[in-house]
Amino acid sequence: MSDDLKQEIKRLRAEIERHNVLYYELSNPCISDYEYDQLVRRLKELETRLGEEERSESPLEKVGSDLSPGAETITHRQRMYSLDNVYSAAELEEWVEKLRLEMEALPDLCAELKIDGFSINLFYEGGTLQYATTRGDGITGEVVTTNVRVLSAIPHNMKYLPAAEIRGEIYIPVQEFLALNEQRQANEEKTFANPRNAAAGSIKLKDSRLVKERHLTAIFYALGYCAELPVATQSGLLKWLHEQGFPTSPHYAVCHSYKEIQAFCDLWESQRYSLPFEIDGIVVKVDELSLQKRLGYTAKSPKWAIAYKFKPEEKETRLLEVQYQVGRTGAVTPVAILEPVYISGTTVSRATLHNEDEIRRLDLHLGDTVRLVKSGEIIPKILEALPEKRPADAAPVGFPTSCPACNSPLEKDEEGAIRYCPNAQCPAQLQRRIEHFASRDAMDITGLGESLIARLLERQMIRGIADIYKLDYERLAELDRFGKKSAANLRVAIEDSKGRNVDRVLFALGIRFVGSITARNLAQYFGDIDSLLKAGLEELSHVREVGSKIAVAIKAYLSLPENLALISELRSLGVNFSYKSEKSSDALDGKTFLLTGTLANYSRKDMESLIQSHGGKLVSGVGPALDYLVVGEKPGSKLDKARKTTTVKIISEAELLALLNPQ
Ligand code: NAD
Repeated sequence: MSDDLKQEIKRLRAEIERHNVLYYELSNPCISDYEYDQLVRRLKELETRLGEEERSESPLEKVGSDLSPGAETITHRQRMYSLDNVYSAAELEEWVEKLRLEMEALPDLCAELKIDGFSINLFYEGGTLQYATTRGDGITGEVVTTNVRVLSAIPHNMKYLPAAEIRGEIYIPVQEFLALNEQRQANEEKTFANPRNAAAGSIKLKDSRLVKERHLTAIFYALGYCAELPVATQSGLLKWLHEQGFPTSPHYAVCHSYKEIQAFCDLWESQRYSLPFEIDGIVVKVDELSLQKRLGYTAKSPKWAIAYKFKPEEKETRLLEVQYQVGRTGAVTPVAILEPVYISGTTVSRATLHNEDEIRRLDLHLGDTVRLVKSGEIIPKILEALPEKRPADAAPVGFPTSCPACNSPLEKDEEGAIRYCPNAQCPAQLQRRIEHFASRDAMDITGLGESLIARLLERQMIRGIADIYKLDYERLAELDRFGKKSAANLRVAIEDSKGRNVDRVLFALGIRFVGSITARNLAQYFGDIDSLLKAGLEELSHVREVGSKIAVAIKAYLSLPENLALISELRSLGVNFSYKSEKSSDALDGKTFLLTGTLANYSRKDMESLIQSHGGKLVSGVGPALDYLVVGEKPGSKLDKARKTTTVKIISEAELLALLNPQ
């Protein structure tokens, strides 16, 4: 083998390993699945020329691992595999033909939707869910039981009693994914590239309350280890899982020829956008389980199944214009306005260009023909401009040096990638700040949306956030197309918002980097705005998920006189600025708790707030006032002390969680 080929193999292996880390461990891929699979295909081709030993070091010989360093793991009773894939009908037909030759006659094949989620393994014994693990490296999985238990799609019990591993896919429905990304964008948090990454990123969150808020759900389709096989076919298994209370997909077909398989693939390739969840292809499996056993596995995938993956749709369209949007913090984002084009299930007429560097990378000119895809099949993205189709007099797209709304000279952020309008009074920023203040996750003022805010600003009926609470409702009722009823409704919504919890108010103020979760942590820690106002950087950084960057941003916001004036004006107008603890349940009401040792699934702080949110109280030592001592790994002297009492109940983390979710 030539040195050049060896070099290419080395380079491809390193590149694939890098994408594996980004995809499986960080849930943050930087190339499409199709591009990744093309790299894999090229490496496979080259590696056929290597000896077996050299091949064993290849990333192609192992299942991509999602294990997080230091996480608790459990060995699967039966390995979890990936799937081999093809991207064209011709390759799928070739696979079917090979199977027919090997088995002498084509066995029945079960065609199913390939749900684009995150593999999950549930272990049941005696009909009760014992634990849940991720696929991990295929041999051991990461324990995610606490988070999986909170999902309503997961049965805690089933009728079948022998030990069994039930496998399927955890996913986030498309609508929930879009809402989650919208919320993250508003909070200036990084958005997820696609629903699969959102599901993968959510299932390992430290706080299962947050997992619940992500609206994850699941579909099941496989059995791993099983003490007594309850069925003889894959299609029978799907029915059985449904009968046992597991969510399954009704869309599958037992096929007897390649033609029938192709018809199923074509049907779902064209109908995929009518489904409430993402699919990235069709899985074709030998239906008979005994034949599956006979065919066996390669190092990475079953030989009895194949994934036919959909190629991402690409379309050409024309760039009509670039608009520059000013966000509530002043960041200016370029947005491409496109000739409307139907792609991957919806009509697209806008695509974000992120920043100046992206415009430069694409070398965009007005009137350019551009190649468009939806990244993760959802978010429109311009791949490239086609210079050969560029009109002769096309002008290059530039970036404004002054704010498109107020004309202030733009400034660059610390990293130099984003340009900001520094004028806090900029009307575009003001509009966005008020929109954010009234939005659902903030003060939730129904009826106060983008267009009404624009009209109120234009007529100078409001000039800032506090003016919302001083609205002249009689004048409002006289506004074009508004009327008395709408004005009365808005009044109720605005009055209602005064009583929102302080975490909502903190989020609504739009402090940089303070999303709704950080706002909740701040509110829980400080209790009211006065304690927060007094806190220094050191104390701020004690709050969960507040690092030095966020602490500095909070301090910077709270030291500006105009922000302090806003807070004090809102307070005098009746807006609530103290924290009312919101209980998740009364399950631990009147009980007292103390923790010792390291817990498996929660940090100490998280567990303490979980106990409090269910009505429990924490005490500082073992004594007559203590009801429960929760014991983790390597417990301290508190355990010995508790053992000497007759009143303290000693429980594990799992037993505590069971108190919260009585079956
Ligand atoms: P995969 O996602 O292509 O297919 C295997 C998985 O499909 C199974 O583990 C299972 O979880 C799932 N699945 C969904 N519905 C199913 C059904 N009905 N029956 C059986 N299984 C079903 O394989 P993978 O090993 O999870 O991941 C490899 C793929 O991930 C690559 O082919 C590539 O597309 C993508 N990837 C992308 C990047 C990137 O950077 N974009 C990096 C690594 C991997």
